[in-house]
Amino acid sequence: MRALRKTAAGFGLELLDAPDPSPPGPGEVVVRVEHAGICGSDVHAYEWTDGYGFMAPHLPLTMGHEFAGRIAAVGPGAEPWAEGARVAVMPFVACGACPACRRGEARDCERRATVGLTRDGGFARYARVPAAACIALPEAVDTELGALAEPLGVACEAVLVGEVGLGDTVLVLGPGTIGQGIALMARAAGAGRVLVAGRADAPRFAVLRRLGFDALIDVAEAPLREQVLAATGGRAVDVVLEATGHPPSVVEGLSVLRKGGVLVVAGIHPGPVALPLTDFVRARHQLRATHGAARSTWDRVLALLARDPEGFRVLITHRLPLERGLEGFELARQRAASKVMLAP
Ligand SMILES: [Zn+2]
Ligand SMILES: [Zn+2]
Repeated sequence: MRALRKTAAGFGLELLDAPDPSPPGPGEVVVRVEHAGICGSDVHAYEWTDGYGFMAPHLPLTMGHEFAGRIAAVGPGAEPWAEGARVAVMPFVACGACPACRRGEARDCERRATVGLTRDGGFARYARVPAAACIALPEAVDTELGALAEPLGVACEAVLVGEVGLGDTVLVLGPGTIGQGIALMARAAGAGRVLVAGRADAPRFAVLRRLGFDALIDVAEAPLREQVLAATGGRAVDVVLEATGHPPSVVEGLSVLRKGGVLVVAGIHPGPVALPLTDFVRARHQLRATHGAARSTWDRVLALLARDPEGFRVLITHRLPLERGLEGFELARQRAASKVMLAP
């Protein structure tokens, strides 16, 4: 089968012929992948920027951690999954044996594997994954939308960690798919106003406008603080949700956050940030982190996708066959595309 594989610890990816996966072992299934999204972190791993060295011992491997499809084969003990079931794959795979797993906190597993980053993922016709990593798609959610469940889960988790409340004014930093998802989830959580900031990012701003967000701030035009305060009539915001991966944006976000407000960092950052601690302490700012999504968050996301499938499909800006996957990576890398969806 054709697969997009990372073969070496350096720039690039290769489209090559990989063997079909071996039959599923105990507790495993093989998924016939129908849709797989290219994520910002996939692009960083493609470029081999800092922070992805953890992949090196696992190469070569098939990338792709945002995917959905149909179960094609069921291993021993992987019932009640059955052939043909439509599923999304939750990419984090817990070991089941470490202290965190024994405590029942699979998310904190010390030896967890990630489908598409440390074991073979979804940029191929078939992917062999643990049955426990599969989540059934509701009737109203097709596999293209199912492939959006992973980034939307990350976004939903950020909004839950930020405790966005009814009527809150929320500032989202970063207009990419995660930022778009955060804006949608904040709106679903009852935010009164959602502002989204980016830097000269026309294709992503266009998606946000189509999603009904018009309070868009381009920090290439004027400083963030100036534009936020102009938009709010001088009021600080209640919650800031960061999805830029640009460390200084955290300090900029704190500069417009009300006293006692929460800032959630969701981006993966290439370096540290200098935090003015006295201002931080006097404002009693709550700085939190979020990563991935709890199983219960996946359920919330699938319920929201089922309620308004077409409202979420707007996030997908480009659709390409797997054979044109490298083109998709270049579109995402040059920020000409927002979300690229590959069909293996
Ligand atoms: Zn991702
Ligand atoms: Zn574990």
